[in-house]
Amino acid sequence: MKYYSTRDNQLRISAAEAIKMGLSRDGGLLTPCEIPQIDEAFLKKLLPMRYQDRAAAVMGLYLEDYSLQELTAFAENAYGPDKYDSPAVAPVRTVDGRTHCLELWHGPTSAFKDMALQMLPQLLSAALRKTGEEKTVCILVATSGDTGKAAMEGFADVPQTKILVFYPKDGVSAIQELQMVTQAGDNVGVCAVVGNFDDAQTGVKRIFSDAAMRETLEGRGYFLSSANSINWGRILPQVIYYISAYCDLVRDGKLAMGDKVNFCVPTGNFGDILAAYYAQRMGLPVGRLICASNCNDVLTDFLRTGVYDRNRPFHNTMSPSMDILISSNLERLLFDLSGQDDAPVKEYMVQLAQSGRYEVSGAVREKLQSLFWGGFCGEEDTAATIARYYRDHHYLIDTHTAVAAQVMDQYRRATGDETVTVFVSTASPYKFCNHVLSAIGETPESRGVELIGQLQSATGVPAPSRLAELKGKERRFDRFTEKDGMDGVVLSFLS
Ligand SMILES: *Cc1c(COP(=O)(O)O)cnc(C)c1O
Repeated sequence: MKYYSTRDNQLRISAAEAIKMGLSRDGGLLTPCEIPQIDEAFLKKLLPMRYQDRAAAVMGLYLEDYSLQELTAFAENAYGPDKYDSPAVAPVRTVDGRTHCLELWHGPTSAFKDMALQMLPQLLSAALRKTGEEKTVCILVATSGDTGKAAMEGFADVPQTKILVFYPKDGVSAIQELQMVTQAGDNVGVCAVVGNFDDAQTGVKRIFSDAAMRETLEGRGYFLSSANSINWGRILPQVIYYISAYCDLVRDGKLAMGDKVNFCVPTGNFGDILAAYYAQRMGLPVGRLICASNCNDVLTDFLRTGVYDRNRPFHNTMSPSMDILISSNLERLLFDLSGQDDAPVKEYMVQLAQSGRYEVSGAVREKLQSLFWGGFCGEEDTAATIARYYRDHHYLIDTHTAVAAQVMDQYRRATGDETVTVFVSTASPYKFCNHVLSAIGETPESRGVELIGQLQSATGVPAPSRLAELKGKERRFDRFTEKDGMDGVVLSFLS
């Protein structure tokens, strides 16, 4: 199967090239030319399988230039017991008869980004081999907190790769920052940007499309690629867990084969929920996709009105990985809903760059609204939801997951839809100890990692061991830059 660009539907490149490039030269997102279809027979075959084997089977449908044997080996490495503290990898926890929670944070950095970023470095290394690439790839990452750490953990000391992460200086949690600045590996670099996530992401995108920069780096033996969810190699591993969750529910008798399920996803860059959309497009029985935002509610308005307008205040919230006003992956959805026509997509993206706003056609809006439902959850409701789940279910959830849980309730109240619904849990509560402690009525007694012990003794819920180990680690990086200085940081990192 070939890949094309959301801004050029005549392009044809292989999966390995798409993963190696990360972003298309025309600025568009690389996307499969067809969506492979699955049926009940396929799902039945997956039912008894382990997560690792389900992963290889699903990825194989999209990656013709990778053998099943290769993909199986990658999945064993990515999701093995040395990386994941749950043998199920992505376990589904039942809350009540029609509500389940898909826990995606059992990997090495305790955020759902690991699900893809334990896989992507292996797909990318193989892509370098398959395409005969001799240069070293430098992965540039803009992170709202979790991607940076998960990407460094995945790429640390991978041959023929370097990785440089930019994060918003005051936009990540103390634990997220400590996870990043203590990262080991000879090929990693970290730099804070004075600004918010959109500033960091815009800076990275600008560097990608800078021809002079590309030439300079080529002269030094490097090319740039992306581990952000603009890379198809990030989205594909995320499709797996929606299909796997469905299989688990059927296997465990919580759902009959063929019955529909809704997914409610805490959303920032629109990568995770886009993967759910692809699962649905492949034929997984999915009802509604519920898009949950925090008070950066640009997507809620978009899904309700068809107008995307980023001209609004930016809020730093207790769910920082969703503090985003420009959701990059929406471009893939718009392309698909426009019948894979690149012309309207290019027009929308020009308007977005020029005025920060665009309005989709009536036809696209109707399709959007039949598939998706959008809602947002403010700070107080987020805290109240953490408290409620802890009190009613002794279930400790993080701030991002709480946004999803609360928006799921809003959806149910607004529509009366009683379809079985899975809300997605994207981070361990131990990444956001201060907010979680306050939410359950405890007074945080210190800061940062010191709070892990307090949350553990207050709740009896065990902390992920990797987070607990952060305490004694040495800080290796302390660099920061203004947003205009990001080019210079890249040049000195690759000197
Ligand atoms: C990245 C992230 C999200 C948002 O996911 P997108 O794919 O960017 O929409 C939600 N929650 C957590 C904890 C994250 O790290």
